[in-house]
Amino acid sequence: MFLLKNGRVLDPASKTDALLDVLLDGERVADLAPAGKLFPSDAEVFDATGLIVAPGFIDMHVHLREPGQENSETIETGTLAAARGGFTAVCCMPNTKPVNDNAAITRFIVDRAKAKGHVRVWPIGAASVGSKGDAIAEIAAMREAGIVAVSDDGKPIATAKLARQIMDYCRSLDLPVIEHAEDVSLAAGAAMREGVASTRLGLPGMPAAAESVCVARDVQIAELTGGRLHIAHLSAKGSLDQVRFAKEHGLRVTCEVTPHHFTLIDEDVTYDSRFKMNPPLAAREDRQALIQGLADGTVDAIATDHAPHEPALKDVEFDRAPFGILGFDTAIGLALDQLVHTGKISLMRMVELFTTGPARVLGKSRKLAAGEPADITLFSTSRSWTYNVKESASKSRNSPFDGRTFTGGPVATIVAGKFVHRS
Ligand SMILES: [Zn+2]
Repeated sequence: MFLLKNGRVLDPASKTDALLDVLLDGERVADLAPAGKLFPSDAEVFDATGLIVAPGFIDMHVHLREPGQENSETIETGTLAAARGGFTAVCCMPNTKPVNDNAAITRFIVDRAKAKGHVRVWPIGAASVGSKGDAIAEIAAMREAGIVAVSDDGKPIATAKLARQIMDYCRSLDLPVIEHAEDVSLAAGAAMREGVASTRLGLPGMPAAAESVCVARDVQIAELTGGRLHIAHLSAKGSLDQVRFAKEHGLRVTCEVTPHHFTLIDEDVTYDSRFKMNPPLAAREDRQALIQGLADGTVDAIATDHAPHEPALKDVEFDRAPFGILGFDTAIGLALDQLVHTGKISLMRMVELFTTGPARVLGKSRKLAAGEPADITLFSTSRSWTYNVKESASKSRNSPFDGRTFTGGPVATIVAGKFVHRS
């Protein structure tokens, strides 16, 4: 037994915000009671005074690179980085080598995660065979093997016709379709967002419409099919307007936003490839709109799009470098600094965006209550710390936030009653 003593419990599911002791028994939560009321004789005590005790954080968009790109990350190193970042569950995208487009690969990931993983791993299957955009993948078989959603992430579902077929099919399985929204004809050759900054740097840019055109297409397909559509790493105001419209009209459309998109903008981009991601850093007005969407409920989840690339790949000229940055280590720190400490959203709303928000998209439950799995994230809102990417558990080092100082961050992570991280 384990007693988390005197922490501030924040649970969006029950709207709890109180100083409570939380008793864990084996893999489950046994009891919650006002601080000082529980006296189990044989429990080990963790003093959570001054900390937030929240349901386990979920990162619904990550790249673990296994199988196939183990020089950049493995399920073992990626999930350790996730645990240290405060996450208890991660959804890994299917763009591995080979692509997770069949039940055998899904089972490999699930088995590997059981053997080597530090947190829960919920795989996402490819929507089309090889994510090539021609034929629908073996979605039902992958579902049997454990996928929680489908996506051709890295690229969009190639055509409206295929998107219709996939959303139709996934509706019968009640699976969300996660879209990497990008019109590839508008985005072709681009290294960053098109605008004054791209002109100044002389780098090829893509317009915001490269994303929002695809979101508009998919919202219409969601209406046509009645399927569940989730927009990944939404970065543009125009896309958010489409999601807001869809929600107002009762469509089953949700979206996520990454910490880097609510923190940085195109003006921050330098020739350093650590500022290169897809979708690219957007305009100041986009960031403002994303923060508004995070505050007013239009955005359902914060997801990191953790995208490790080994230095040999990433440390090259900007336009030759692959897209993507690390996400786990800095997610809570960035959410606190950019959203909570600035008064843009409440601490409860932040917890919701990492817990019940993504859980709802994935059809999972997430709450801190007796009988529930003991998946718990403990974090500080006040401890000052400086990020040193060299200390990351990730195998890669591609973060633009290296050297940044944060106020608050992850302190301990518990999965199924066991500490997988304790600082
Ligand atoms: Zn993507």
